Amino acid sequence: MYSHRIVLHFPENVVEDPLICRLARRYDVQFSVLRAEIEENRGGMMVLGLTGDNGVVRDALEFLEGHGVEIEPLQQDIRIDADTCTHCGACVGQCPTGALFVEERDRTVALDSEKCIACQQCVPACPYQAIQVSFH
Ligand code: SF4
Ligand code: SF4
Repeated sequence: MYSHRIVLHFPENVVEDPLICRLARRYDVQFSVLRAEIEENRGGMMVLGLTGDNGVVRDALEFLEGHGVEIEPLQQDIRIDADTCTHCGACVGQCPTGALFVEERDRTVALDSEKCIACQQCVPACPYQAIQVSFH
């Protein structure tokens, strides 16, 4: 089994095409949509978790690329502004993966970026706008 988190960039001309539904019907892969948004006048963007046998995942990605979708590995950059963060912990309960947690030794809030899926649920939870998430 192969599990990967990827960023899909849909050109404007295929945004209306239900490619992900077609992919799910055609290939034996499990997927979860971690984030999706339309980029005005530029197409769309989707962060996808994809799991399946190696060859099937490769075929599924080739199917998307064959329809003009650009694919790149997910590289998210989450930043907690150390000057602004008060370690209040409000973001920790909003994090679905445990990426944000309270350090036992000093009760400060910390981030395990390996667990972060860039869902951005923590961003509005912070009363001090101390968290930023970006993709690159
Ligand atoms: S972006 Fe999502 S997964 Fe990452 S730290 Fe924030 S809430 Fe947790
Ligand atoms: S909610 Fe904001 S201020 Fe509170 S611990 Fe999280 S990042 Fe820091």
